Amino acid sequence: MKSTHHCAQLTKADIGQTVTLAGWVDTIRDQGGIVFVDLRDRKGVTQIKLEASSNPALAKDIAHLKPESVIAISGQVAQRPEGTVNAALPTGEVEVEAAALTIFNISETPPFPLDDAGGDKVNEDMRLTYRYLDLRRPKMRNNLRVRHKTAKAIRDYFDAEEFIEVETPALFKSTPEGAREYLVPSRIWPGQFYALSQSPQQFKQILMVAGVERYFQIARCFRDEDLRADRQMEFTQVDVEASFIDREDVYRLFEGMLKKVWKDVLDYDVQTPFLRMPFVDAMNRFGVDKPDMRFALELVDFSETFKNSSFKVFQATVANGGSVKAINAKGLADITQGELKSLEDTAKLLGAKGLAFIKVEGGEWKSPIVKFFTDDEKAEITKRLAIEDGDIVFFAAAEWERACAILGRIRLDAAQLLVKRGKLTIRHDDWKFLWVVDFPLMTYDEEQKRYVATHHPFTAPVPEDIQYLDTDPKRVRGQHYDLVLNGMELGGGSIRIHQPALQKKVFEEVLQIPQDVVESRFGYMLKAFTYGAPPHGGIAFGLDRLCALLCGTTSIRDVIAFPKTQKGQCLMTQSPSPVTAKQLKDLHIQTVMPVEE
Ligand code: ASP
Repeated sequence: MKSTHHCAQLTKADIGQTVTLAGWVDTIRDQGGIVFVDLRDRKGVTQIKLEASSNPALAKDIAHLKPESVIAISGQVAQRPEGTVNAALPTGEVEVEAAALTIFNISETPPFPLDDAGGDKVNEDMRLTYRYLDLRRPKMRNNLRVRHKTAKAIRDYFDAEEFIEVETPALFKSTPEGAREYLVPSRIWPGQFYALSQSPQQFKQILMVAGVERYFQIARCFRDEDLRADRQMEFTQVDVEASFIDREDVYRLFEGMLKKVWKDVLDYDVQTPFLRMPFVDAMNRFGVDKPDMRFALELVDFSETFKNSSFKVFQATVANGGSVKAINAKGLADITQGELKSLEDTAKLLGAKGLAFIKVEGGEWKSPIVKFFTDDEKAEITKRLAIEDGDIVFFAAAEWERACAILGRIRLDAAQLLVKRGKLTIRHDDWKFLWVVDFPLMTYDEEQKRYVATHHPFTAPVPEDIQYLDTDPKRVRGQHYDLVLNGMELGGGSIRIHQPALQKKVFEEVLQIPQDVVESRFGYMLKAFTYGAPPHGGIAFGLDRLCALLCGTTSIRDVIAFPKTQKGQCLMTQSPSPVTAKQLKDLHIQTVMPVEE
């Protein structure tokens, strides 16, 4: 029985027509001799009605149906009786009077409710084990549709800009300086491995050498990192590279792409150009390189104020080259002991010794440290933090980056506490786009005792800073940019080094990667660059995060059809799983199980 219409289609205009609908039984209600079935397909729901007395055999068959059974029903479209119209449904004015039924499959009772509200309350492991049921929920179905629309808007945009989509290999070679990689053993080459591509970075640069000029790809990437709500072991990037462009071109191009995505998917007009903020300002003001600009609570620097303070903790920090910073969590003086303790624990996790604070209540400063402050110091704090009754001020005193990071986290947590109290509103659809720019090209890694690339080693230095590469690498800014939206890093990229000699110098002299390692990992790239490499640059966006934001969810698992759990498992197919000894032998692999401690 083929359907003539979908389940969100019939209206008053169809009354009197004989139709066939196919789908899943959403609900069955028996109201004293009249049976109602809500029939659902991917588009929506239509009400089916049968008066048992008019067709007892059919009534009996329908009575046997269980929710989620798959059926087709034929019958005439009729107007719903007065008072029973459902204005919330596109088909709410009509119903189909059942005349014939085909049962394709009777369903077992689902282990959890498939409506949005009911399903949301269920443990996520259950939803992932029965993902095929979870995906039947309207919300999840909509998430998949949003993802499709987003990908389509992106493809249409780049197509119109004359970019071409080129696929690059998932099986790549190991380049261990980035995130941890997944290795794939070679059967043909015993003891040798491919690595699953962490990103198509090197291939897209090679495509520029190949004269493609404008490349994009919606590419799957793999990184063996600890999973979080916004991180999966395999994820999707919108990866882009173009030749003969500079940073301004990149900003314009991607603002255009995001404008189109927001218009096509949400019918929302994003204002361009986006705000830009140097990395140093982002850290100083928000304590993080991906500031959430939907609320203020900015960090204020008091290093000058306390450099001669009699409060030794602050004074010594500044004397040692560190910073003293503070934020005013406006209106949070009613913080509970438990909440305060949890903020303190967070600060400690980030390397603070404690979390100094001043609570301002009843005109009084309640704080274990304030007795050390002079009147001038108090006046300065009051003025620059606009302190009022009911506020609480938090301090961090540490090396600059750490002090920023501690208060950056406290800022986010304090904002959540204010939201909980109804004192602050943070809307998920208050779209605050921001380019963070002027990152340092290199960051010094204390553990490895050498510089590492802040973004990746292919990032070009800002031309006027190249002179400091040998003498003061810290000072060199990279032509790197991150696109941030509401506290999430949506994407990042850079203008690349296209001169082989400069690239070699960065690898060997600045990053101090031994020459033979450079040769074995990047030799092919350096060689390619000697055959006419155009200036080029690009960016990559996380499609999963982008879709999560568009769907108003905080978990990227909600916008991935078949995600892994935080422990890296697929609960539906039960992977990972052991393999046979023969498989391992063919791959020349022996496993050594960890010994339980
Ligand atoms: N490949 C880079 C990344 O995955 C992005 C880029 O530089 O284009 O972060």
